[in-house]
Amino acid sequence: MAASNMSGAANASPEGASSHTAIIGAGLAGLACAKVVADAGQQVTLFDKGRGPGGRMSSKHRPEAVLDLGAQAFSVRDDAFNEEVARWQAAGCVGQWPERIYRASPTGWQPHHDGQVRYAGLPRMSAITRHLAATLEASDVTLHTATPITALIRKNAEWWLESNNTELHGPYTRVVITAPPPQAAILVQPWDTQLFELCQRLVQRGCWAGWAVFAKPLPTPIGIEKDWQMARVDHPALRLVCRNQTKPGRENQPESLSLLANLEWSETHLEATPEAITQSLLDALKAFTPRHSNCPNYWIAAPTAGVIPSRIKTTRFPSKGLPTEPTALRCAAIACAAGGWKMPGCPATG
Ligand SMILES: Cc1cc2nc3c(=O)[nH]c(=O)nc-3n(C[C@H](O)[C@H](O)[C@H](O)COP(=O)(O)OP(=O)(O)OC[C@H]3O[C@@H](n4cnc5c(N)ncnc54)[C@H](O)[C@@H]3O)c2cc1C
Repeated sequence: MAASNMSGAANASPEGASSHTAIIGAGLAGLACAKVVADAGQQVTLFDKGRGPGGRMSSKHRPEAVLDLGAQAFSVRDDAFNEEVARWQAAGCVGQWPERIYRASPTGWQPHHDGQVRYAGLPRMSAITRHLAATLEASDVTLHTATPITALIRKNAEWWLESNNTELHGPYTRVVITAPPPQAAILVQPWDTQLFELCQRLVQRGCWAGWAVFAKPLPTPIGIEKDWQMARVDHPALRLVCRNQTKPGRENQPESLSLLANLEWSETHLEATPEAITQSLLDALKAFTPRHSNCPNYWIAAPTAGVIPSRIKTTRFPSKGLPTEPTALRCAAIACAAGGWKMPGCPATG
């Protein structure tokens, strides 16, 4: 996939503007949308402000370990997605995980069985989006990374995209925005009042996501399977702990945890320093991890730990007032379609 950025003067679509779709955002939604449009025989160009595709399915590379800081696992709830996941499995970029889930609190741990099959990227969550990007490359879809789109411009019934407030890309017949609603709102505001208002109604909540790499494996709480994989945590600060080395394809990396904070707690600590958040999440981890009688000093081996420098956002779905028809989101050939939108036929992830 071409990753070079267009710079300087605007360039015209080689096929003309009649069949060229621009997609803003190369997370899972943007990549999936690109595949559908490309499979329909149309030209597609993807733009993402990040260094690579993936969005909230990206993974953090540390010298010792690879850690997922966004999506940890996903379930499959419809036939079409089931078929797609089967293709991902055949391509070797996804595996079942987790199978040993616990609910943990300072007073104890209980197995958590909900009968749901879940999957994770192999050997990292971003392997899925990298695979999709590689598939699109074979379909001649162009991806421009490190290209933040700052405005949409309409000229002679065609769309142009402005990046970095200076460069122009286009022309395009239509634009699909898969950026989270607050970022989409800025782009659609001059063009579509209804869509702008819908973006504003989708409330975004901050979520601190941390990580920790340990020199030694954590001792197993008594009575718990040694290779527990995920714990849903009953703690004011922390809600989920995932052991990255138990994910498919990461068996050789050391004990390394993804630590997802509670949304309410994240909101009240949005302005705290990363150092303070890291300490709070590690303290929370200690609170529900009983000290093992044979290894009382394991916390002395301080982990390498941190949180991502900027807060990852998650979307909260309001209970009422969402659009009920996808067409309600379309106007003047701009559409919003992403993880922040919940529409008929689009089951919530998790
Ligand atoms: C901490 C955390 C944990 C999660 N855990 C789970 C989980 O366990 N299971 C699950 O199913 N889901 C989980 N999710 C949700 C899941 O990650 C998202 O629903 C999904 O990845 C969203 O995909 P998307 O393509 O809609 O959006 P994104 O992945 O956010 O993609 C949007 C893309 O748009 C780009 N972009 C934004 N603005 C611009 C612009 N102006 N110009 C160019 N590019 C732009 C961004 O760089 C980004 O790559 C989690 C999310 C978070 C944050």
